[in-house]
Amino acid sequence: MGAPYSSKNLIDFFKTFTTEEICEKYLMEVRWPEGMPCLQCGKKNFYPRLKKRRAYQCKECRFFNRPTAGTLFHRTHTPLQHWFVALFLVSFDKRGILALFLSKAIGVHYETAWAMLSRIRRAMAKRESLYQLQDYVEVDEMFIGAPSENTKRGRGTDKTPVLVAVSYTPLENQEEIPGFAKLRAVDNVTEDIVLKFIKSHVEVGAIIRTDGLSVYPAIEKHGFKHDREPLKKRKAHHVLPHVHTFISNLRSFVQGTYHGLSEIHLQQYLDEFSYRFNRRHRRDEMFDRLLRACLETTEMPFSALTR
Ligand SMILES: [Zn+2]
Repeated sequence: MGAPYSSKNLIDFFKTFTTEEICEKYLMEVRWPEGMPCLQCGKKNFYPRLKKRRAYQCKECRFFNRPTAGTLFHRTHTPLQHWFVALFLVSFDKRGILALFLSKAIGVHYETAWAMLSRIRRAMAKRESLYQLQDYVEVDEMFIGAPSENTKRGRGTDKTPVLVAVSYTPLENQEEIPGFAKLRAVDNVTEDIVLKFIKSHVEVGAIIRTDGLSVYPAIEKHGFKHDREPLKKRKAHHVLPHVHTFISNLRSFVQGTYHGLSEIHLQQYLDEFSYRFNRRHRRDEMFDRLLRACLETTEMPFSALTR
């Protein structure tokens, strides 16, 4: 086998990851391409794997090493093979999968499937938090939520505001190319909140294009350049083309895949959407990338997922 595994199809996948041991071996290859070191002494000299304890005992210091220790898979009571199928399905379907579907596909309770997907989204979010948008960025806000009475469109509704940033590459005499995106559900759209969003997701020095809303000018005091194009009579999608295309795709993701979603968990769905968008040109590598993200995310108690 050998990492990386590029996801091809279900048949290929099930022919490859046939047992718990094979999944574990693969996980170890991805986690330690140079071989697993003993967590205690750092040497790489082990007795054969202990079946019952799912561990490798170090020949030097006798420490029992578990390959999943310190990862998202540790102590979840869910076999690795189930996790692998879940990761494959999540990476195989470009729009994401529902907990109900996963629970039926791998034969676990709905709550277990929900917690697995929630953990996978946490791993996606952690991955996303490692980098910032650079150079040219559009920033805008949108509103997500079930329509309520007295709802006005746009600003001033009681839906959840979501801040959106999309980077792009300007090209001479050609259409600009959209790059990466960031999303954050917020309580409301104030100067402070917008500034905090921009400072944590955009590199200082970037040129930020907005629709000229009054909450944005403050960004210039913080090292960003403001490319302010007032809306005037022009339509919003002419001013912020990348953000608006992104928002309309996000809307169909929310309506199509999740048929609307609960506000408490909104951010994790947003994290999944931007994770997928930001890797849209690397879908073949997604299984490996997701697996790696899960290996680098520490275990989380169920209570942390519902927060
Ligand atoms: Zn050791």
